[in-house]
Amino acid sequence: MQLDHISGEEDTLTECELRCILHECGHMLGFVHEHQSPARVKELTYDKKSEYNLLIVIATIRYYADTWQPELVKHNVLRIYDEEGLAAYSPFDNMSIMLYDILACMNAQHRHISRPYQLSPTDQAYATLLYPPPVTSNDAILRDALRLVGALPHQEDVIMASNGPEQFRLRFREWNAEVRAAYTKRRQLTVKCTSFLKCCANLGSRLLNIVRRPQKRLPDVIL
Ligand SMILES: [Zn+2]
Repeated sequence: MQLDHISGEEDTLTECELRCILHECGHMLGFVHEHQSPARVKELTYDKKSEYNLLIVIATIRYYADTWQPELVKHNVLRIYDEEGLAAYSPFDNMSIMLYDILACMNAQHRHISRPYQLSPTDQAYATLLYPPPVTSNDAILRDALRLVGALPHQEDVIMASNGPEQFRLRFREWNAEVRAAYTKRRQLTVKCTSFLKCCANLGSRLLNIVRRPQKRLPDVIL
């Protein structure tokens, strides 16, 4: 836990100190960094061209140069977690307390996202669902959290019918894995369709060029 930003000299906490406490409490619950989530690179990508990738790495290392050595920047900011090693995760949440600043120069989409200072609704829902109360049946807070993370009514009922917190957590994780797998499949299909459409568009414009190319005029034949 890294609480060295908190001076402890004042009676009240600054916004930054409060963020630091909430972020570190997130780590205590097992939450990892949102900017290193596999979901982040599905939305804010590193460009495939290695040259551009290098620019992103340099920009990120420079931004954090006052805080960390390059190796630590790679470990705490640039490294993307292995999907298999995560119990559950949401789609990319740009309001998560577990997020650092993402500057426009740090992603191929040039989006700027500032670090949040509060727990996001998704942070709160995941904390609730991964640490359910001893009695899970008919718990309105659990139901609200399930709806917030996108469980459908019949899926919500299956999870809510769990016998105690252990089974609840297990069923929630199974649901989360299924949703992620379906999302990955849809995404792969979208990528395939997009490249197919690009090919068709390319072919179409080449054909148009051939058709529009001026035809050589045949010499008039004098009979
Ligand atoms: Zn952290």
